[in-house]
Amino acid sequence: MSSPRSPTSLLHAGAPALRDGSGPVNVPVVRTSTVRFESAAALADHHHRRAAGERVASYGRHGLDTHRALEDAIIALEGGHRAFLAPSGLAAITLVLLALLSPGDHALVSDSVYSPVRRVDDTLLRRLGITLEYFSPSRDDLATKIRDNTRLVYLESPSSLLYEVLDLPALTAIARSRNIPVVADNTWSGGWFLQPLKLGVNISIQAATKYIAGHSDVMQGIVVTDSHELTKRIAATHEALGLTVSADDAYLALRGVRTLPVRLAQHQHNATIVAQWLLSHPKVQRVFYPALPSDPGHALWKRDFSGASGLLSFALAPGLDTRDAEDLVDALKYFSIGASWGGYESLALIAAPERLREHSVWTGTQPVIRLHIGLEDPADLIADLAQSFDGLDQSSRRKLAA
Ligand SMILES: *Cc1c(COP(=O)(O)O)cnc(C)c1O
Repeated sequence: MSSPRSPTSLLHAGAPALRDGSGPVNVPVVRTSTVRFESAAALADHHHRRAAGERVASYGRHGLDTHRALEDAIIALEGGHRAFLAPSGLAAITLVLLALLSPGDHALVSDSVYSPVRRVDDTLLRRLGITLEYFSPSRDDLATKIRDNTRLVYLESPSSLLYEVLDLPALTAIARSRNIPVVADNTWSGGWFLQPLKLGVNISIQAATKYIAGHSDVMQGIVVTDSHELTKRIAATHEALGLTVSADDAYLALRGVRTLPVRLAQHQHNATIVAQWLLSHPKVQRVFYPALPSDPGHALWKRDFSGASGLLSFALAPGLDTRDAEDLVDALKYFSIGASWGGYESLALIAAPERLREHSVWTGTQPVIRLHIGLEDPADLIADLAQSFDGLDQSSRRKLAA
């Protein structure tokens, strides 16, 4: 297992300098649209430095001190060259796709990817003459899928819904040997349990909406590059799209970074206890969580990750159907029914069968329920799941009686 990193850099990155011998712990929330300059020459100098690739702001859209502090903390987290902020995780994904792909280009995408990527493909990229091809990261040989016009490989590990762990070093080695940039969605690990750039990925993307913000109160996306060359390409498209986030949201995301390591350690602790309990439950067929030794991705996870977050899924045992899945989530008290995840609270969601079928590893027929294991006492979460499973006996008796 890769060794866990120290939280120290995340606690101190972007801390404001003292002035006149004192100052606040936290960076101020700098809200502005206009940036003032002491002279016309100073303004021209800023424009010049920005055009040369320096991270200076000549306008509010570029983000000032709060944004800068968050970007520095994100660079410390992911270990990259530059960080870019976007108004949502999906906006961060679309930014990268538009920055790196042009009409006539082809990109290879792992088929277990966060499914809205396919909507970006259907509604936007296809119209621009860009072709996305979905491949099986475990069964297909990536090298044979690469075409003359392949300009990007897009991965997500572990995958959405079934948490399939990808062999990132092997996949990036193939793409790198052809000079094709590799992008990876790193939202599940929060950037704390995995640094994809260390495994050969060139651009890491996260929905900061999830673990980075951590309190279900912010929408945000981040993009982290590994080189000056990719920074230039992302910066140009980021500017062209006019992407920006509010200083208040940047502040909330930065506050989240400070406690990310302790929150994720607790999510891992709680999720491991719940996953093991689910594994031994007679109404559960399978648990999808790479930290479990029984998970097919366990060896890869152990090699590449330093921990597991709070997001997992399970399949109901044969004999139980979609109605039972609905009854089960409806009866939960501490788990709210809802999309998104990464906050302090537990959530449950039934995975849509059509989404599962997009994953080539999915051969099952049983309903799958995704859980986000929050920071509640895991004993309370287990008791909640237990009463909800027990309730299925009554509802199945009701069904027989009907
Ligand atoms: C939620 C999510 C996103 C999108 O983030 P938003 O901020 O909701 O747009 C991207 N990737 C993964 C893996 C996600 O779970």
